[in-house]
Amino acid sequence: MEKGFESLKQKIGQFSLKDKVLLIPEMNHIGSHLMAGVFRGFGIKAKVMNTYHGLALGKEFTSGKECFPCQVTLGDILYYMQKEKEKLGPDFDVGRYVYFMPEAEGPCRFGMYNKFHRMVLDTFQDLQHIKIAALTSKDSYTIGELLEKEHAKNFRRSAYYSVIVGDVLDRVLWRIRPYEKNEGEATDYMEKAMHKMADLFEQYAFEKNFKKIREHLKEIIMGAKEIMDPSIPRKPLIGIVGEIYLRSHLASNQHIIEMLEKLGAEVVNASIAEWVNYTTYERIREAKRDLISYWRVRDFPSMKALIKKMINFKIDLTYQYLRQRQLYKFAQRYLDIKDDHNIAHLDRILQKYHIYDFEVGTEACLSISGAIEYATGGYNGVVNVFPFTCMPSTITSSIVRPLMNNLKVPYIDSVYDGSFQPVREATLRTFMYQAYQHFERNGGRGSHLTHM
Ligand code: SF4
Repeated sequence: MEKGFESLKQKIGQFSLKDKVLLIPEMNHIGSHLMAGVFRGFGIKAKVMNTYHGLALGKEFTSGKECFPCQVTLGDILYYMQKEKEKLGPDFDVGRYVYFMPEAEGPCRFGMYNKFHRMVLDTFQDLQHIKIAALTSKDSYTIGELLEKEHAKNFRRSAYYSVIVGDVLDRVLWRIRPYEKNEGEATDYMEKAMHKMADLFEQYAFEKNFKKIREHLKEIIMGAKEIMDPSIPRKPLIGIVGEIYLRSHLASNQHIIEMLEKLGAEVVNASIAEWVNYTTYERIREAKRDLISYWRVRDFPSMKALIKKMINFKIDLTYQYLRQRQLYKFAQRYLDIKDDHNIAHLDRILQKYHIYDFEVGTEACLSISGAIEYATGGYNGVVNVFPFTCMPSTITSSIVRPLMNNLKVPYIDSVYDGSFQPVREATLRTFMYQAYQHFERNGGRGSHLTHM
């Protein structure tokens, strides 16, 4: 067995996934399933693990100092392995599996999840040989060695498309559910739509046949509209920002969107594409900074290599924005879902308000500017959802709370660590009462937001 750093070096990284089962932890419910569909389209046996059933295991093998998403995802892999062993008995072969755990660089602990998981997995005799496939924000989540080189570009583009389709499907669900004719119908409908869409990605991702995906998306949206009762008046609109895992992972945030909806809200959560676009945007900014340093020392070969890299990231970002705009426009022909924002626009918001800076980095850049965007864009309240002790979200809270106070927009932090919070419902109820007052004071949400 490789010890310590050797294990980290040898069993975390980019390995060929040929003939392996790729285990994907669920973050965003719809997005994870679509991503698995894309992997399958490229010949990888990818599977989304059932989530949150292993929380007790995740807590047992952590000290309590780790971020909550680290505990949840650790629990997911340990639980999955436990169940596979029980199911397969002597046929269980840990070498068949690869566990997917990307990372982000920067001051955040997300960069350490897969290392920590590695250390825990290494303490189990029969789990030492499971490898961890890691993509990193350092190169904007390039697929690297996980697939054959010739498929890398198409994979990246199809994977991005699955992210934005997942975002759109989420927005459709949040748009229709508060107005559904029969309780539970919207969620059931979108669950089936998600599985069908994952199959379509499996079928069409390899050839990048996005036209087929859009055709089906249109059918889904048209069907979704039928679920709505047009006689229900529009409700106060709540925007969610925060730490990406917690705000997206339904069980970890104790289904906060549904809870707010039950209390009379229509909710929009920040998207997943926001993070992907942000990492690409950051790589361009970083390259610009490095370019200046190389210029100062007249290091021309490094400058040349960097310019090439920068152009590639620019092409990626332009492609991402283009695809995103096209898809949202397409979906908005059939249902008035909310647009997603452009990262350069968020950057400008922070510069305008002089309260934070992209130079400092982390998700706080997105959450602070996103909250301002909601507050100035007609939303009736903002919720910051994050794990207990999360560093960027705590920064966000300290900056956004007084700002929302000045803007007179209701704001609340919703913090999670897996424990039951007896006052949570009462707190959210109070928040929604304030949101209603804001809604009333501002004469509802204006004519541009009426049913289509
Ligand atoms: S964003 Fe928060 S929860 Fe995520 S790794 Fe950083 S500190 Fe932990």
